[in-house]
Amino acid sequence: MKTKTKKFIKTEMKQLTELPGHVLFNDALNKAISHAKRHRKIFAVLLIDFYTLQDVHLPIENNVLNKIETLLTSTLRTEDLLAHFEDGEFILLLTDIKKPKFASIVAEKLLQACETSMKDFSLAMSMGISIYPDDGLSLEDILKNADATLYKAKQAGGNQYQFHTPEMDVEAREFIKLENDLKNAIPNNQLILYYQPKLHIKKGNIAGIEALLRWAHPTLGILNPAEFISIAEDTGLILQLGEWVLREACKTNKYWQNEGYEHFTVALNLSPKQFQHPDIAKKIAAILKETELNPQYLELEIGESTVMSDVEFAKNQLEAIKSIGVQLSIDHFGAGYTSISHLKQFPISTIKIDQNYIKGVPNNPDDSAITNAFIGLAHHLGLQVVAEGVETVEQVQYLTTQNCDMIQGYFISHPLPAEKIVMQFKKLMDRALF
Ligand code: C2E
Ligand code: MG
Repeated sequence: MKTKTKKFIKTEMKQLTELPGHVLFNDALNKAISHAKRHRKIFAVLLIDFYTLQDVHLPIENNVLNKIETLLTSTLRTEDLLAHFEDGEFILLLTDIKKPKFASIVAEKLLQACETSMKDFSLAMSMGISIYPDDGLSLEDILKNADATLYKAKQAGGNQYQFHTPEMDVEAREFIKLENDLKNAIPNNQLILYYQPKLHIKKGNIAGIEALLRWAHPTLGILNPAEFISIAEDTGLILQLGEWVLREACKTNKYWQNEGYEHFTVALNLSPKQFQHPDIAKKIAAILKETELNPQYLELEIGESTVMSDVEFAKNQLEAIKSIGVQLSIDHFGAGYTSISHLKQFPISTIKIDQNYIKGVPNNPDDSAITNAFIGLAHHLGLQVVAEGVETVEQVQYLTTQNCDMIQGYFISHPLPAEKIVMQFKKLMDRALF
């Protein structure tokens, strides 16, 4: 194996492309190390090698190198630093990535962008990925490990990327596979909504139904949101998924109303990216019009952490959505840090107490005290309270004595597909709680 670490830190070379060379790259890498160390961030270095298929040592012609450079730079974001080392060797610094596996999204994009040109010029391309801090804390270690990994990728047949840490490699490949599958989930009709009712404690009737997304994956079976929502959020696919959920939930609720069931709200969860989208209010209004559902029968649940990340923005966005005439609630209340003064300014009607507190009710005195305080506070502000994750009769009894308004959880019903939940409607309407 040829080792190139020494070569990486040399200071002179003749530049064949417009890109920065060793000196600038190493300077940027050192800065990235200091920044990541201070702010506990991670970053990735991708060592990318293009080589002629017939003979790996054959130099690549200048005009081909320039074409590669254009392809790479047009595929990357302006904040990514791409440098050219020598011959067909490029190096890329991706700063502030949230998780190592996100480097694989970029690696996949580069492979795809270069695919045709590589065929035309009989070239191959391999990438070795080194992650700070897992694969090295110093410039030398990061580069040495990227180089060793590049060598492994070449040995494994080329036209691929590898991570230095084998576990990261497995995780990244699963992530990319799931992401690709998720892109086809809507066209292949693999998304399903499950519905879980909320009950009024005092009246004992259905107060509303929450729509919860499931993905019927062709080989992995029914997947819960925990297994794919973060991928959708990170890749931006959530906007398409969210629109599908919105349309499907409104359509279903309208259908139930047409079938003669008692009218209630259907609630759905808005992800942070959806909530932050400038056109979200317009989109909701358009889908309500299209499905002919009266806005008062739609409720949107927004996570506490989503509204608290930028309070001024959240207030405006909530007001824009509220003006359509829909209901708004704060989900996972208590899981983060909602400032009470802000809660007062939001045009919301309900808070849903995070199920982690309800779990401890009534046996854990702290959880019970916090739950009571939340109920008192919400009522003081004129808001309704839903307790989430209610599983036992003791919890229902306790929450009743504390004047909680609504309950949701396995005690009432697990989330079920539309055709199964309708069978519960009649039972639930007539049900005595305990
Ligand atoms: P959430 O909005 O807090 O939904 C409640 C979660 O608790 C659901 O998990 C539900 O199945 C579960 N649950 C309900 N009752 C009980 C109970 O008695 N005990 C326990 N242990 N769990 C209970 P699920 O369906 O896996 O959803 C998880 C989260 O994924 C949701 O939390 C929501 O934040 C998110 N999510 C679900 N559907 C969507 C969607 O369409 N879009 C977006 N952006 N997020 C969604
Ligand atoms: Mg929810």
